[in-house]
Amino acid sequence: MNPIPGLHHVTAIATDPQANADFYVSLLGLRLVKRTVNFDDPTTYHLYYGDEVGAPGTLLTFFPWPGAPRGQRGTGQTTATAFAVPAASLEAWMERLAAAAIEFGAVETRFGERVLPLADPDGLAIELVEQPGAEARSWWRGGPVPERCAIRGFHGATVTEAGYERTAALLTGVMGFERRGEERDRFRFATRDRAPGAILDVVCAPGLRAGRVAAGTVHHIAFRCASDADQSAWQRRLADAEMDVTPVMDRQYFRSIYFREPGGVLFEIATDPPGFTADEAPETLGTALKLPPWLEGRRTYIEERLPPLRAPRPAAAP
Ligand code: ZN
Repeated sequence: MNPIPGLHHVTAIATDPQANADFYVSLLGLRLVKRTVNFDDPTTYHLYYGDEVGAPGTLLTFFPWPGAPRGQRGTGQTTATAFAVPAASLEAWMERLAAAAIEFGAVETRFGERVLPLADPDGLAIELVEQPGAEARSWWRGGPVPERCAIRGFHGATVTEAGYERTAALLTGVMGFERRGEERDRFRFATRDRAPGAILDVVCAPGLRAGRVAAGTVHHIAFRCASDADQSAWQRRLADAEMDVTPVMDRQYFRSIYFREPGGVLFEIATDPPGFTADEAPETLGTALKLPPWLEGRRTYIEERLPPLRAPRPAAAP
């Protein structure tokens, strides 16, 4: 069984699909790599944003439910999603965000890296982190953000827990992460890989209320595995560690198993194959509504119920 290289995707909840697409494509410069539906609720979109081909480790995905109530950030939840950006790019990012009237927080330094916190239109916590080596990674060349600033996949994610010991034990034991250090209430774990999304921070917040998952919060985070055989091995290993793990689910672009880590955050392990070019050419990714074979017969019904979604227009620099 191969070790986990890092995150595969992060899935969050939004309200208006158009505002969501405009923000992630036109402002942050990600590519809309797949326009499909929530397979468990097919009259809702499932939108995937990532690099040019939607490589694992670059994918932020959303279920946009118009009118959904806003969630509450708290314990037992993924409380921030961090993207890697090149060194010395945060000043340009602040100019870009300010020009679009998007609020952002003060730049912080964590574990020697500069971090710019911001929120998406639904209040989802996003961070841009200047990560050494990020510039060498893939990015969406067709987007509006210049190469010297463009997002290079994930840096990692932060989960907030009432206590961190059992989560830490799962990460360093069963899941193969290394503990990298701590700063105040933040404990950093990382895979041994240099892949995007190799970092997972656990923030210990015993006094904080429990989070509520709804609009503007993360639903789950997924880690990568190389193959179906590896996924079966993970399933057995997690079950042996007394995790309540689901059967394999076919998500069309990957296959998934899910389990709740001891602090209550929903984790997934998703296969790298087959990927986002399984049903669309690389050049036209994200331009048409794609349905899995088992929903294709209901296409007209589904299309009539989905809200309109036009192609996001790239915003001008800075
Ligand atoms: Zn997922």
